[in-house]
Parts: sequence; structure tokens; C-alpha cells
Amino acid sequence: MFDKILISHCFLGDNVRYNSEVMAFDHPLLVLWQQQDRFLAICPEVAGGLRVPREAAELQLSSNSVITVSGLNVSEQFISGAKQALTLCQKHHIRFALLKESSPSCGSTLIYDGSFSNKKIAGQGVTSQLLTQAGIRVFSENNLEELVKLLDK
Ligand code: SF4
Repeated sequence: MFDKILISHCFLGDNVRYNSEVMAFDHPLLVLWQQQDRFLAICPEVAGGLRVPREAAELQLSSNSVITVSGLNVSEQFISGAKQALTLCQKHHIRFALLKESSPSCGSTLIYDGSFSNKKIAGQGVTSQLLTQAGIRVFSENNLEELVKLLDK
């Protein structure tokens, strides 16, 4: 049986992004994996109760809270979405996630620095942190080849 993969919903071209911009991850491997029925998709921010469109938000690493550009604390919604992503992984015995880099939920190696000045720093979004802590390997569009090496082994 094929390994299932948790995937950021926006990678599949669904309208879930904060700015309502559709940005599918166009890659032949995604087409193949979709045909193999490997994906379970989630947008943790929408699952956590946030709407489309919604205000831009960034993770403040010093306090591990998520604050919108107007100063609203949306940590609760982000944490709820992360927990739902983890529950989905546990229910389906998922060991791998393919999540959108740099998002305050899904980023796995980079996030925006919390100053809303378009600067990125090393770090993980809220969902990636929780999945990683639970032993789930999180990959992004930037290291897809590493995921390929581990699948179905
Ligand atoms: Fe995509 Fe994740 Fe942002 Fe949702 S939270 S729009 S799945 S990057």
C-alpha cells in the first residue's frame, strides 16, 4: 500500500490562502500521487476557523504567538488547525507531510520574521512544529526529492 501524505490544501489549487489567491503546486509528482490517492489535504488556518480571505499573520517566535498585521492574536485558531492536522495524520497513520514553505502554519524551514517586512528567518510554522514534534517528517516544495527517497520504504 502507498504511503499517504498530508498536503497543504493550497497546493491542490483550492482557494484557501489568506489573500484568496489560488497558487497550485504544479509538479508531475503531485499529479502521480493524486492518481495514487495518497493525499489527505488540510488548510490548518481554515480548519482552525479563519476565513478566506483573512488578514496576513506572522508567527512571533519570541512569544510563539501568531499576530495579524492589525495586531489580532490568532494563535488559538492556528493551534486548533495544527491539532486537527495532527489528528488526521494519526488517524491515517501518516508519516510524511508536504506543506507550503514560509507559511506561519505550514512553513517547515523558513517563516516570515514577524515584522511584516517580507523578511524570512529559519523556523517552522505552528502546524509544522506540532507534526515534527510528533515524529512526522515535514517537506516542502523546496525539498520534494528528499520525500521521494523516503516514500514506501
Ligand atoms: Fe496553504 Fe497552509 Fe496557508 Fe492553508 S495555512 S493556505 S494550507 S500554506
